[in-house]
Amino acid sequence: MRQPMVAGNWKMNGSSDSVKELIAGIKAGMDSVSKAEVVVCPPAVYIPRVAGAAADSEIKVGSQNICDEDKGAFTGEISGEMLKDVGCEYAIIGHSERRALYGESDELVAKRFAAARRNGIKPIFCIGETLEERESGTTNDVCARQIDAVIALEGVEALADGVIAYEPVWAIGTGKTATPEQAQEVHAFIRGKIAALNADVADGLRILYGGSMNAGNAKELIGQPDIDGGLIGGASLKAEDFLAICTAAN
Ligand code: PEP
Repeated sequence: MRQPMVAGNWKMNGSSDSVKELIAGIKAGMDSVSKAEVVVCPPAVYIPRVAGAAADSEIKVGSQNICDEDKGAFTGEISGEMLKDVGCEYAIIGHSERRALYGESDELVAKRFAAARRNGIKPIFCIGETLEERESGTTNDVCARQIDAVIALEGVEALADGVIAYEPVWAIGTGKTATPEQAQEVHAFIRGKIAALNADVADGLRILYGGSMNAGNAKELIGQPDIDGGLIGGASLKAEDFLAICTAAN
């Protein structure tokens, strides 16, 4: 039985005061969350503050990225060891905004995945197709290619150390959610593809959906057989909305 997971990607939002308020609000509502593992991924500078506030709760903290290298002359990057040091258990890797806006290739994303693993951080590995790719019928090929880059570097068993987040790019921040059927179809493809290599890994692997998930659509999406939770952007910035998604997994 896979434990559902709901992770909030706060992206580049917040201030010292607002993140304090947000984490306090989520903490206050955690009693209503009975099943889901809850993770929040604040901007890097606020991770220590949020991890400190979450320390006496069930809430886990993640980063929004991780350097593929471990130490040295990599200006602006943050290593896995540093993230671990300030309380991160998870790291988002390969988010479509990183891929599209900062040119992260499948190969670089795979190296970041490897860096997370060797530092004991669980990757939240994001994959997904653009609208153009969906319309040209290549959704599964794109997802397979992105997953294969990690498998080529780390082996299929490595996937057991993290979670996959299927996030159709056209659904991220647009208010256009994939239908439960559309999402389930891709999730089933992903699980089937991995099962062909290792059935145990596929069976235990949590595959989250991301892309305009909100309090209104979460229950139906998470209710699909191969959808094990959500990676939430916009709706993770208000404690009440985020908690409503977390409880939808009850
Ligand atoms: C995301 O950025 O990972 C995401 C899913 O964003 P949103 O929920 O705002 O679509």
